[in-house]
Amino acid sequence: MPYMSDAMGPSTTTPTHPLAIPVVWSADCLRHEPKGEVWLGVMTPGTELPERAHVIRAELESAGAPVVDARRHGDQTLHAVHDRGLLDFLEHGYRQWAEAGLFAAVAQWSGPEPVDRVVPYVFPTAGMVDGLPLREPAGIHGRAGRYGYDTMTLIGPGTWLAARAAVDVALTAVDLVGSGHAAAYALCRPPGHHVTHDAYGGSCYLNNAAVAAQALRESGSGRVAIVDIDAHHGNGTQMVFYDRSDVFYGSLHVDPGAGWFPHYAGYADESGRGEGAGTNLNLPLPEGTPDDDWLAAVDRIVDAVGRFGADAVVVSLGVDAAVDDPESPLRVTHDGYRAAGDRIGRLGLPTVAVQEGGYHLPTLGTLVRSCLTGLQSGLTVTGGIS
Ligand SMILES: [Zn+2]
Repeated sequence: MPYMSDAMGPSTTTPTHPLAIPVVWSADCLRHEPKGEVWLGVMTPGTELPERAHVIRAELESAGAPVVDARRHGDQTLHAVHDRGLLDFLEHGYRQWAEAGLFAAVAQWSGPEPVDRVVPYVFPTAGMVDGLPLREPAGIHGRAGRYGYDTMTLIGPGTWLAARAAVDVALTAVDLVGSGHAAAYALCRPPGHHVTHDAYGGSCYLNNAAVAAQALRESGSGRVAIVDIDAHHGNGTQMVFYDRSDVFYGSLHVDPGAGWFPHYAGYADESGRGEGAGTNLNLPLPEGTPDDDWLAAVDRIVDAVGRFGADAVVVSLGVDAAVDDPESPLRVTHDGYRAAGDRIGRLGLPTVAVQEGGYHLPTLGTLVRSCLTGLQSGLTVTGGIS
């Protein structure tokens, strides 16, 4: 395990208290290999790698956490969150792209490494269609931009299998909480919080956290709160629930107004719409935000969850706000993540933590461990874990 080192562990981890929160896992989540990202017009290496799941699992196992295999679930909850056209495109788009000869069509310009990933090239922006009905293009190369909103979220032969497995991971974690566990952790890969009802992007394909929240509602929780601590705004999760009063979404993230992804959402004035008015809270943070200011934002969201009166919590657990992460300029430490987990745990509510971003392989596992250790200690204080 090249990325494992005790010396990198957080100083606050208490070895005498093993991590009791079950870790839900599916080996199929490794099957997604994006092979890079088309960013600023060129193929770049990308950071959403299968190794991410390995290092997280290894670290949590070493902390004593039990590992539970994901159980296959039906599509009912997935259909409540996502558009059928999006699901159809993600499931069949790669094969249809190959059958249409599109990989072969560009091979002569691809260089030594042929492009064998689905990449959209035309996007029906609001300015382009200008109110016309949004049609379903006949060509699969035209359809890609109907559902994918960026060029960096590539689809390969294993993408659907992995994304669908990640949904099963999230739903199995919901089952564990429903059967009496105070908390469960879903080791989802690929991540999901950038996926809206009918559009994928941001290295995400299916919205695991939104599916978990919807499943909690369907299994009896009257009100569910999603706390998104990933470095980036979870624009997908926000918009899935933007019109609903039964699911609160709160996020702290690097300010899109300072030039950060997802650029078009995540602003402080986005507070919900219609019946969902007042159930969305965005706290954009400046570049360089350290633990104290980041935790003050966590506190504001935890307070809002308390006022909302949630019966259950979903944590979109991204650890890319960490100081060493290559994907964001926030400066959160292991102690910061542990404190965030503790504060969320002190809500004393059944909690499903869903893995989102986090890309610095040497510290990825210990950051997740810190957050879950804090969550466990917070739940212990409130009696959720005895
Ligand atoms: Zn992120």
